[in-house]
Order: sequence, then structure tokens, then C-alpha cells
Amino acid sequence: MSGTWPCNGCGITNADRASCEACGTSSPTATAADLAQTALKDAAAARAAQVEEAARGNHQLADHLGNVVDAHLDDVLALRRLPSA
Ligand SMILES: [Zn+2]
Repeated sequence: MSGTWPCNGCGITNADRASCEACGTSSPTATAADLAQTALKDAAAARAAQVEEAARGNHQLADHLGNVVDAHLDDVLALRRLPSA
């Protein structure tokens, strides 16, 4: 998983990700392991944003970001149950 690729779903160009940053469409060359790695990266980014927003007092937004983190981590768990390509 490296380099850039144009998304088949929305058309934006993605760099060093296994799934589209905008719409979540998988790269045509991504394996389940690649997708899990990207989902972990997204979970970490959402967690960092959650901590930042909580520190600013934006607790509603922080709560929402907590749900985003959980959704990404659910993806990681599901992807790890797939056989790697
Ligand atoms: Zn896309």
C-alpha cells in the first residue's frame, strides 16, 4: 500500500491510504491487512481530535468523535477476521 490512486467512488486522489479518505471506497489493490491499517490510522486521528475537542470544552463534538473512533475500530476487528489476500 503506497503511492497515490484515484477513487472509483468519488474521484478524489488518495495518498498512502488503502481506502478513500472522503468516501471509504477501498483501493483496487488493497488487501484486508492494508484496510485494517488505514482504519487504525483513522481511529487514531479521530481519537486525537476527540481529546482536543474535549480539552476545548466541545463535549458534544467529542462524544461524536468517540463514536467515530468506535466505528473505525469495529472495521479493524471485522477486517482482521477476513483471510488476508
Ligand atoms: Zn472516494
